[in-house]
This record gives sequence, C-alpha cells and structure tokens, in this order.
Amino acid sequence: MPTETVDTMIIGGGLSGIYAAYLLSQRNKSFVILEARGRIGGRILSPEHQGFFSDLGPSWYWPTIHPKMAHLIQALGLKGYRQFEAGMGCFQSSNGTVQTVSGYPMEPLSWRLSGGMMALITKLCEDIPENAIRLNHPVCKIEKKFAGPLVNVGELEKEPWARFSANKIILALPPRLAAATILFSPDLSHNLTQAMLKIGTWMAGQAKFCALYEKPFWRQMGLSGQAFSQHGPLGEIHDGSNHSQGPYGLTGFVGIPAVQRNHQQPLTEAILSQLAIIYSKPAAQPETFFYQDWARERFTATQFDQPPMSEHPLYHPPAGQTSIWDGAIHFAGTETADQHGGYLEGALISAERAVMNHWQ
Ligand SMILES: Cc1cc2nc3c(=O)[nH]c(=O)nc-3n(C[C@H](O)[C@H](O)[C@H](O)COP(=O)(O)OP(=O)(O)OC[C@H]3O[C@@H](n4cnc5c(N)ncnc54)[C@H](O)[C@@H]3O)c2cc1C
Repeated sequence: MPTETVDTMIIGGGLSGIYAAYLLSQRNKSFVILEARGRIGGRILSPEHQGFFSDLGPSWYWPTIHPKMAHLIQALGLKGYRQFEAGMGCFQSSNGTVQTVSGYPMEPLSWRLSGGMMALITKLCEDIPENAIRLNHPVCKIEKKFAGPLVNVGELEKEPWARFSANKIILALPPRLAAATILFSPDLSHNLTQAMLKIGTWMAGQAKFCALYEKPFWRQMGLSGQAFSQHGPLGEIHDGSNHSQGPYGLTGFVGIPAVQRNHQQPLTEAILSQLAIIYSKPAAQPETFFYQDWARERFTATQFDQPPMSEHPLYHPPAGQTSIWDGAIHFAGTETADQHGGYLEGALISAERAVMNHWQ
C-alpha cells in the first residue's frame, strides 16, 4: 500500500484539531487531519431543526473567564447570546415532588452561540482546504521511524488500509482515549501511559437531550426552564431555545449513570414524562427530540469513562510532557491544557501550544 507523505499530521478533528489546522493554515503550513468519525467536531455536535442548531455537546462559553473563546468568536464574526434565565426555577426532590424556587443565576454568565457551537467549527473550516480533512480515518497505530512517525489507519489486528509518513504529529484527542486505543511503537513509557489513562475525558460519561417546541410554554408560566432534580432520570435542565425566535427548547443532562442507560426508548419516555411533571403536559410532546449518549461513543469514551465523574479534574499535560519522541508528536486536546482543561477554552489553549511549540 502506498504511503502518503505529509508535513504535519493532525489526529482528531474536534475543536483542538480543527483550531490547530486553522492556525497552521494562517501560517501557510501544509497538514492533513485524520478524523475517525464520519463528521468533524468531536464532542461538539449540533443537529439542526427548522434552522436552529441544538447543542448535544458543549453549549456554553463564558466570555469573562474564557478570553480565547470570546476573542475567537468575535474575530470569526460569530454572535453569541445570553443563556435565558428570566423567571423561577424548579426543584424536584427525591420523592418526585416539584417545587418552584427562585432561579439559580449562573455565575459567571453563560453564553450560547448562534448557529450552535458547531458554527465555530464550520467557520474555522472556511480557512482549511477541504481535501486536508480525511473523515472515517481512525488511527490505530503510530510507529517511530527514522524519516518521521508512520501513522496507520484502520483497525488493530487487521492490515491498515492507509498509511501516512509525517514530519510532525499533533495528537488532538483525549489522552485517555489515545492511550487506550492507539498502539505506539516503540511503547510509550509506563509512566506516560499510566498518566494518559488516568486523565478522565471531560463529560465523556454524560448523556444530553434537547426537546424542541413551537411555543415556550414554561416561560409563559413564569419559569426560566432551569430545573434540578434528585428524582431523575434528568438531573439538570435549562432553557435551550433559539435566540429571539422559535423553536424553543428544553435541554439538559441525564442524571443516571451510563450503565443504567441501556434502553433508549424507555429512557426517552421517562425523560418526556419527567418534563411533563415539571413543566406541564405540553412538555411531553416536543416537535423534535434529540438525545446523545457520549458514554457509548467509542471515539470519545473508554470503559474508564463510564462511571460518573464527581468533580472537574485539574488538567495538565500527561506526566508533564507536551511532546514526545524528540518533538515529533505534540499533545493537544483539552485534557492536556494546563488552564481551563476540559472546556472549549482548554481545547484552544492546547492547540495553540502544539502549533507554537514547533511552527512559530
Ligand atoms: C455533553 C457535553 C457538554 C459539554 N459542555 C461544555 C460547555 O458547555 N462548555 C465547554 O467549554 N465545554 C463543554 N464540554 C467539553 C467540550 O466539548 C470539550 O472541551 C471540547 O469539545 C474538546 O475538544 P477536543 O478537540 O479537545 O476533543 P474532542 O472533541 O473529543 O475531539 C477529539 C477528536 O478525535 C477524534 N478521534 C478519536 N479517536 C481517534 C482516532 N483513533 N483517530 C482519529 N481521530 C480520532 C474524535 O472523533 C474527535 O473528533 C462538554 C462536553 C460534553 C460531551
């Protein structure tokens, strides 16, 4: 099989990989992105309904504490809008009783992106040559060679179906996923492999829903859409509407662990009846219902990501290393950022570091 030679190989087409590509494009550097899925965006996923894009991955950014996100959104000419919070919140106790409570204002203020978070990826891609992005290209093995790393695409234990020889690699995927699913030859050190496996992938064990309606009936009842529940299956709910027009939405996180989310149909029914209990009957009949279980996504979550994470980890480059193999492979991916790791901001920080370290 012929081996394609590329200058920089970016592995992973999530925000960190796409932003690294955008920065390289601005410096007139050539690169190829290998993305395992049949789409780009990674944990960013915004399906469309009537021109509105619901975020099933990240929906918020915080301009006051995430300056790179705020600056990039402005520089790309994208528009954000404040998370809707006007009105009363709801609290559902463990026995299922619902109380109306004064809202829990989000601190710092959360913003959503018009066009969904995917608008950020789409806009960055305008500066990336189309043929530089290779979808359905899962990397299974990276070999250290004299001429530079050799990247094998396909499934482990089978013949690779594509090979690339690269000068440099940017590994733009969660370190835990990389250590668990990509074979490195020679082996990475025990210390580094353990460090990579220990870094939990942020939100990888979560499932999120968006229910879209023609009318914001909860707003008409004086409710903000925000609710917290100890009863379940939903643990946290917010207004997830379009900015200044319909469709209107309720969105949030499924509070039960991944192992109990095996059957989607009964779970969807349970979610809709919980919404009806909290917000009244019309909530059970959305125009559209989107659901994404990230724990079942093999290009996001590993078996170690199935139990829920209790708190936000303190992220940093694995074993303190931002690159390996004498600088031939650079780590990116939000979980390798030493500030704002786990967040979109961390994805930008890690991509910038990987690009600056070598292509300044
Ligand atoms: C439900 C949910 C809600 C969230 N909410 C927020 C929020 O409100 N605000 C916020 O700031 N952050 C939030 N986050 C976190 C945010 O999504 C991440 O910080 C960010 O998207 C990470 O980008 P990344 O490029 O580092 O990783 P990823 O998006 O995971 O990208 C990695 C890419 O690598 C690809 N890949 C994996 N394996 C291979 C392989 N072997 N070969 C080739 N490609 C491969 C994947 O398909 C993926 O495209 C949320 C995440 C989730 C899941």
